Amino acid sequence: MHAALLPLIKELTTITELGSIHSVLSWDQETYMPQGAIESRAAALSLIAGLCHDRHTSQTFTDLLKTVVDIQTGQPFLADLSPQEHRMLQEIHRDWRMANTLPTDFVTRYSSLQSQSQYHWQKARQANDFSIFAPYLDKVIAMTRQKADYFGWQYTPYNALLDEYEPGATTTALTPLFTRLKEAIIPLLHTIQKKDAFSALPKGPYDKAIQLKFSHFLLREMGFEFDHGRLDISTHPFTTQFHPTDVRITTRFNESDVMEGISGTLHEGGHALYEQGLDPARFGTPLGAAVSLGIHESQSRLWENFIGKSPAFWQHYLPQLQSAFPPLANVPFADFYQAINQVKPSFIRVESDELTYNLHILIRYEIEQLIFQDQIPVQELPELWNQKYEEYLGITPPDDAHGILQDVHWSMGAFGYFPTYTLGNFYAAQLWETLLSAFPALEQNIQNGDLIQVRGWLKTHIHRLGKEKPAETLMAELTGQPLSEKAFVSYITKKYNQIYGL
Ligand code: ZN
Repeated sequence: MHAALLPLIKELTTITELGSIHSVLSWDQETYMPQGAIESRAAALSLIAGLCHDRHTSQTFTDLLKTVVDIQTGQPFLADLSPQEHRMLQEIHRDWRMANTLPTDFVTRYSSLQSQSQYHWQKARQANDFSIFAPYLDKVIAMTRQKADYFGWQYTPYNALLDEYEPGATTTALTPLFTRLKEAIIPLLHTIQKKDAFSALPKGPYDKAIQLKFSHFLLREMGFEFDHGRLDISTHPFTTQFHPTDVRITTRFNESDVMEGISGTLHEGGHALYEQGLDPARFGTPLGAAVSLGIHESQSRLWENFIGKSPAFWQHYLPQLQSAFPPLANVPFADFYQAINQVKPSFIRVESDELTYNLHILIRYEIEQLIFQDQIPVQELPELWNQKYEEYLGITPPDDAHGILQDVHWSMGAFGYFPTYTLGNFYAAQLWETLLSAFPALEQNIQNGDLIQVRGWLKTHIHRLGKEKPAETLMAELTGQPLSEKAFVSYITKKYNQIYGL
């Protein structure tokens, strides 16, 4: 590292370490913290979040940054930087600019509104009554719109929100891809719906303690390092990291559906391998951090779906699953494979299959644009939501709990986040094609239980790089194609044509 950068890096590392303390406490809150501690924990979390923000926006930090970059443009002053250091400084400047753009008083008000709104969203969902949430959603939208104005935008405020989660993403770039995806998926779905449904897997019971053991086993097979990570149980599966040497994942188990826990484990395992694969020597800098949410999601989708719902994977692991779970003992391979790949439109995004999943995202993407571009009133959203489900998936949610109230994202103001899930599927498909051509025997190797080959390749070509390159550049160089829906459409069409004999 260039000597002139060291004081800045040292300060940044301290801030990242403070952030890790915040992550440890919130991981604990979701896993082991006793219920009664919620208030004291919230106070501790907000104290640390404030310390991080203050330190990142302090005069000391600004002065350190000023010594190495032009504070207005982010252009580095030093001539003898490596391309990685050059890129690192631009990313440090971007993060600093975003943290400093929002006035402290706005940040405080927004964060307090977020917790109130999340609380009322939960109440509304339990009571199945959108009107409890509506006034808070209205305020969250207004403040999020203000946030977009602080960040600055072109064409639509929604672009500022997209850019926050997937740097560089715009509606101009995404809409054509999403439209072509929709045009390919909906007819395929209609064709599949004319076919008979496959029989489902036995309803168990699947012992939860054995499911936990099986999840540990699968994670070890993927190359998850248990001396640098843990698996625990929470209501909603998630991954959090304190350092590449300490990555925590959670999953949940359902006694009547063994695949729920397995999918959760493989998905979060994919995220976790990314975090364990980052370069510890670059910890605290953008070069030691994941490049974007879309790329992060490509890692989880690759493991959960492209590998974890493939015939090769289950030809190897089904016998072991069957000996662990007696209810599956007599299920033939072909029936098992069809059952785990059954296509069935559902109301709930997180329960949906690989084909219809993206339709759930497209609906949210379209509604988010209507909110921020066309300022459609909050009262009209549930009706609009239901219309779109009818139009795209052919089903109308029976109530708002199965409709607009299902996801936490909007209550937190996370507008612009959903599209990163579909970008993850696109990138995963492009990577899968690349892997198949890099390793002609890949599927045979997976069938023999060799998952380390994939893990090794991802680590070398993606994980170790951190933010060395922007997401789109990284993927274009690696896969030989720009971001597009093509690889995904071709993968999904081929897969379901084969499964449904189309
Ligand atoms: Zn994910």
